[in-house]
Amino acid sequence: MVNIDFSQLGLTGCGGAGFPTHVKLAARNVEAVIVNAAECEPLLHKDKEIMRHCSDDFFKGLTRVLDVTGAKTGYIGMKKKYADLLDWLSKNLPDPRMKMLPLGDFYPAGDEYELVYEATGRLIPHGGIPLNIGCVVMNVETLLNLGRNKPFISKFLTLAGKVPHPCTIEVPIGITVREALELGGLKKIGGMRIIDGGPMMGKLVANPDTDIVSKTCGGLIALPEDHVLIKKMSNSDKKNSQIARSACDQCTDCSELCPRALLGYPIRPHKAMRTAQFAPYAESNYAIDSIFCSECGLCSLFSCPEDLPPREMCMISKKYHLGKGVKLAEFPGEPTVHPMRSVRRVSIERLIKKLALLDYDHKAPLQQVSKSYDKVTLPLKMHIGAPSVPVVKTGDRVTAGQLIAVIPEGKLGAVLHASINGKVASVSDQAIVIVRE
Ligand code: SF4
Ligand code: SF4
Repeated sequence: MVNIDFSQLGLTGCGGAGFPTHVKLAARNVEAVIVNAAECEPLLHKDKEIMRHCSDDFFKGLTRVLDVTGAKTGYIGMKKKYADLLDWLSKNLPDPRMKMLPLGDFYPAGDEYELVYEATGRLIPHGGIPLNIGCVVMNVETLLNLGRNKPFISKFLTLAGKVPHPCTIEVPIGITVREALELGGLKKIGGMRIIDGGPMMGKLVANPDTDIVSKTCGGLIALPEDHVLIKKMSNSDKKNSQIARSACDQCTDCSELCPRALLGYPIRPHKAMRTAQFAPYAESNYAIDSIFCSECGLCSLFSCPEDLPPREMCMISKKYHLGKGVKLAEFPGEPTVHPMRSVRRVSIERLIKKLALLDYDHKAPLQQVSKSYDKVTLPLKMHIGAPSVPVVKTGDRVTAGQLIAVIPEGKLGAVLHASINGKVASVSDQAIVIVRE
């Protein structure tokens, strides 16, 4: 086990909420490091492309994490369906501590609760984290960046959907969504909406000219604005609440197929729907088990035969209860895997059909990007925790990789680096803008 300060790389998780990596790497008593290479969001391929083309740095990163945490095993969780890549990786593992972990083609195979269970047969306790059962889960791109051992200033992402040339690219953090999509040949965005992330858990881009490629962006998916997925994602909380009140017949399909419920956690999305039907949230605790919702979206986008929004109701209820101080760890009982889990899991093939994404299900090979960019906008908060604190001022000249914002004293956070050479055009409490001179 070795002690290294990783906090100066600015690394965060490369999807989801962006948990600062150096905090994860401070973990001790780790038995297993589990790599999330499942990439179960439909249409996204950047992790496979990284492993195909940058395996040296990826393996270096995994070796560093195994050394630092003292873990005995590094599992690489990848779907069996990528047989060629899985086979090639298994034959080229550079360290006897590393093992491939073949996964079924289900959603959400990359959820850390699922991965930990598949790798170790153990379940994360209520309100716990993987470390409670000796595991650390890392994603592919974070390991690549650790292997490179350089500041985190560029991002891999897949361009998918209605782009002329679906591909995976590596671009400076802070370029606009429009600039990124142009690399896939999409010159005009009119009549389309863009999803930042995967179709299941991504968010709609508000404005492709001001929204940027952040540290957590794993993909940009362009879809016609009348696509069923875009319509669903566009609904407000108010609209979702109205829909929820109007039509749920309490069939419970959403709960029967909920991946967290199948692992044995006490989440029952049909109860969140019942709450919505019969009581105002502020007066009800019917749906208190919604705090266990991972927001995976399966219930709203696949399971419900009436196309209702149980996930969204769970999210409202979860926010309410967590805001009231309810703690997952205090929830009684222990998770026990549902006996029907193995037959109730949802395949990606069925999911893609249900999401009406068959026409967009293409490979996205890594494409070299030679273009240089004139401007980047670097938000001070692209991670969980406190915003970074600028250490540059307007007019300063910076070079790519230079430290421009630090972690506030005693807080959880991540440092920030310039992603291009240039001059600081502005510094606000939201972002640092750099322009090329
Ligand atoms: S939300 Fe849909 S799946 Fe869930 S109970 Fe209601 S009708 Fe059934
Ligand atoms: S989004 Fe729905 S299916 Fe997913 S964990 Fe939450 S309740 Fe379960």
